[in-house]
Amino acid sequence: MPYQPPRYPHHPPTDHGARHPVIIVGGGMVGLATALDLAQRNIPVVLLDDDDTVSIGSRAICHAKRSLEYLSRLGLGDALLAKGVTWNTGRVFAGENQVFAFDLQQEPGHEFPAFINLQQYHLEELLVQACQSAGVDLRWKHRVTNATPDGTLTIETPHGPTTLHADWLLAADGARSEIRRSLNLPFVGKVFQDRFLIADVTMQAPFPAERWFWFDPPFHPGGSVLLHRQADNVWRIDFQLGWNADPEEEKRPENVRPRVQAMLGPNTEFELEWVSVYTFRCRRLENFRHNRILFLGDAAHQVSPFGARGGNGGLQDADNLAWKLAAHLHGNAPESLLDTYDAERIPAADENILNSTRSTDFITPKNEAAHAYRAAILELAANHPFARPLVNSGRLSRPATYQNSPLNTPDDTPWHAGPPPGTPAPDAPTDEGWLLRRLPPTFCALSFGPAPALGLPTLTLPPEGPAATRYGAREGDLYFLRPDHHIAARWHRPTPAQVAAAHRRALCQS
Ligand SMILES: Cc1cc2nc3c(=O)[nH]c(=O)nc-3n(C[C@H](O)[C@H](O)[C@H](O)COP(=O)(O)OP(=O)(O)OC[C@H]3O[C@@H](n4cnc5c(N)ncnc54)[C@H](O)[C@@H]3O)c2cc1C
Repeated sequence: MPYQPPRYPHHPPTDHGARHPVIIVGGGMVGLATALDLAQRNIPVVLLDDDDTVSIGSRAICHAKRSLEYLSRLGLGDALLAKGVTWNTGRVFAGENQVFAFDLQQEPGHEFPAFINLQQYHLEELLVQACQSAGVDLRWKHRVTNATPDGTLTIETPHGPTTLHADWLLAADGARSEIRRSLNLPFVGKVFQDRFLIADVTMQAPFPAERWFWFDPPFHPGGSVLLHRQADNVWRIDFQLGWNADPEEEKRPENVRPRVQAMLGPNTEFELEWVSVYTFRCRRLENFRHNRILFLGDAAHQVSPFGARGGNGGLQDADNLAWKLAAHLHGNAPESLLDTYDAERIPAADENILNSTRSTDFITPKNEAAHAYRAAILELAANHPFARPLVNSGRLSRPATYQNSPLNTPDDTPWHAGPPPGTPAPDAPTDEGWLLRRLPPTFCALSFGPAPALGLPTLTLPPEGPAATRYGAREGDLYFLRPDHHIAARWHRPTPAQVAAAHRRALCQS
C-alpha cells in the first residue's frame, strides 16, 4: 500500500496583526528542525506552512551522519535508526562491470552510520510530532503571499486572509521562496541542462543496502542510473534522460515500467510508488541574513541531489542558527552573533555547490572532450586505485568545518593530532555511552582528566582510550564546544580565564 500522508488540522487565525518574537515560514525538514531546536531552547515559535501535510513525493532520502547526530540531539536519533536503512558502502559500475567499491565510514566507533536512507516524509512526520510535543505553534494552510523588510507577513488561509508581524523572520519556504521573491533578492547560479527520471518502486529485491551507481549500463545505454534502498521496501531509481526528453511522456507508467524492468530483469515484480522528472540547479542567495530576516535550507541555497547535500546542508543551517538566535533572544549575545550565521554558512553552501556542480558535470558531460575524459578515467579506475578519486558519481555530504570563523579561539600551543577549532566534535565510544549523547546542547567542556572549576557543564573522560585517541588528547587537555557541538577552542591545561575568554568570543561578547 503506497504511503498515506497525514493531514494536520488547521484553524481560523485569531490573532490578526499580532507580533511574535520568531515566525518561521515553511514546515519542510529545515523549518521544522529549526522550530524544534528553538522551542527546546525555550523560544516561542510560530511556524506557518501553506500545506497541511508533509513533503509528498520522492525527495531527500540520504541523511548523513552529521544530520543524524543533530537530530539525535533533538531527540529523534533512536526513531531514525529504527526506521531508516543503514548504509556505508557505495559501488560504481561502468557498462556491465563494477569499477570499484568504497566505504564511507572509514573507522569503527561511531554511533551513527555514514548514512541512513529514509523518505523525507517519514523524517518530517517525526519532526512534526516532536514540534507538537515541544509546544511549537504550528499553523497549517497558512500561505505567505508577501513579506516586507520589517517582517510583516500577508497570509492567505482557507478561513480568510490575515497579517502577522515577526521580530525575527526565518524563511525556510523552499526553492521557490515567496519571501525571497517579496524582497526581490537575486538567486544566482547554474541550471543543468539535463533531466532525470526518478522512480520509487516497491519490491522484494536481492540488492544489498548500498548505493549503486552505473555509468552507461546495458539496461540504460548512454545514461547514468542510481539505485538506493529506502524504508518499507521502497527503492529509489534515478535514470538520466538527457535534455531533450519530454517530461510528461517520460512520467507515463507505460514508459517508466520498461526502463525499470530492463534494469531489474524480467522476473522481478515491482509496483510504481512515485514517478517524477527533475532538472537541477546549483545556486544561492548572496547573503542569508537580511537584517532580521534569515534564510535557511533551499530558500537560501540549492544543489543537485548528487551528494545528498540539499537537506543535509539545510539541517546544518538550522543547527547553526537556532542556538545563536536563542542566545540573542535570551539576552546572552549581541545581535552581531547573527552575522556569524552568514560568515559560517555561506562558505558551507559554497562548498556544497562546488561539490554538487562538479559531480553533476561529471555525470552529465556536455561535449565530446568531457565524454572522452570520463571514459578514460573509468577505464583507468577499474585497475588503478589512484584514478578512483577522479570518478565523481557524487561527493557525499560532509559536515562543514568553520575553520575561519570569528567565533573560534585559535590554538595557542601546537597540537599534533585531534580536531582543530571549527570542526564538528567527533563521536567516540566511552564507558558510559556515546560521547555526543553525553554532551548537553549548550556551551560545554570536554576534559581529558580532571578539569579546573569552569562554571560550565564539563564532561570528564579518561586521558587514554578511544575518545582521547580521537581527540589527540593527553592528561589535562580540554576542548571547549559550542551548543551545536562545533569545537570553539582547545588547550593543554587551560586556566578558567582562558576558557571564559573563549566563551565570550564564541558569543561575540568581545
Ligand atoms: C529528487 C530529489 C532528491 C533529493 N535527495 C536528497 C537526499 O538524498 N539528501 C538530501 O539531504 N537532500 C536531498 N534533496 C534535497 C532536499 O529535498 C531539500 O534540500 C530539502 O527538502 C530542503 O528542505 P527545506 O525545508 O529547506 O525546503 P522544503 O522541503 O521545500 O520545504 C519548504 C516548505 O515551505 C512550505 N512553503 C513554501 N512556500 C510557502 C509559502 N509561501 N507559505 C508558507 N509555506 C510555504 C512548503 O509547503 C514546504 O513545506 C533531494 C531533492 C530532490 C528534488
